[in-house]
Amino acid sequence: MFFCGGTVMAKIFHSCKKKSKIIAFTALVLLFFSVMLFCGFRPEKTASFFAMDTYCSVKVKGKNSADCVSEAEKLTRELDENILTRHNDFSFVSRLNSERKSVLDEKEKSRFETMLGLSRDSGGAFDFTLGALSDLWGFGEEPAVPDEKRISEVLGKTGFEKITLKGNEISFPQGIVIDMGAVGKGIALDEIKTVLDENKASSAVISIGGSILLYGKDDMTVGITDPTGKSQYMAVLIPGECCVSTSGSYERFFEQNGKKYHHILDPETGFPAENGLVSVTVCSESGLLSDALSTACFVLGKEKGMALLEKYGCEGVFIDGENGVSVTDGLKDRLEITDSRFVLRQV
Ligand code: ADP
Ligand code: MG
Repeated sequence: MFFCGGTVMAKIFHSCKKKSKIIAFTALVLLFFSVMLFCGFRPEKTASFFAMDTYCSVKVKGKNSADCVSEAEKLTRELDENILTRHNDFSFVSRLNSERKSVLDEKEKSRFETMLGLSRDSGGAFDFTLGALSDLWGFGEEPAVPDEKRISEVLGKTGFEKITLKGNEISFPQGIVIDMGAVGKGIALDEIKTVLDENKASSAVISIGGSILLYGKDDMTVGITDPTGKSQYMAVLIPGECCVSTSGSYERFFEQNGKKYHHILDPETGFPAENGLVSVTVCSESGLLSDALSTACFVLGKEKGMALLEKYGCEGVFIDGENGVSVTDGLKDRLEITDSRFVLRQV
């Protein structure tokens, strides 16, 4: 198409005198760009980088796409290092964990309200106060099954109900370690979405580990990771404009005495959640909710998880250990299982 257009321009150009050549050339350039804009051409920029302990990729279309891409990367790194991580001394969460109290700004307050609400609504299956329990399991360093006595000691000191949020002040007793591991990627997607809105981006796909933002009116396809690891994906989803997050037992795990232990913990037992599920994917307008709900549903199991999604007006795909796929009503016509080893279950 480019090649053909160029030949026509050259022919017209050669049949004119010098001044009119310049005018003709300018007119043709303008015409060329008008046609490109009319045909939907939008500058596209991409980047990939490592942040939040995972691989991230960013693709943005629109006139400010380069700014959006660099801002998305900067924002993800800053959010990780300055706000969410608990693995340095200076981030907001690290300081909160050592001081056990803080005055929150409106954005932080609203995040904690949402997280506390979901902790309550999930009956404690989602619990962002389990940092000490994750550390006991050694995820991120040298994981091993901890002593059961130590698990119950730690569980006795943790729990979202021990958090006090009054006005803008948050406080909690010793023993609680706030861990944003289940929501950080979703929070980053929400922040990046604001940048895309401000720059009037036409469309974008932002992927931070297992959490993806599909931005704009184009129908975009997302592959759902094959939890068995045999192929890259086992189904494709066209959910429309939203955030899509997946929590899976295949993401981070270790083996001890022939048994697999993964990183999503059931706050009731202190052990990795075990209810037959191997992955849950959740679609929501909010990145924070899609991320938090996928973790919550993974712990709750299929029936309770689906009820929670309905309460929040979100959709999801649940995959069990027998390769069964259960999908909420709103995604039924938007999911295609591409791997014949997987079967659709009646819900
Ligand atoms: P991933 O981080 O692999 O995308 P999730 O979003 O499901 O997966 O988050 C899992 C992380 O959340 C764990 O690594 C841990 O930091 C934290 N976590 C583990 N169990 C729970 C839980 N029951 N509720 C909230 N956070 C949890
Ligand atoms: Mg999550």
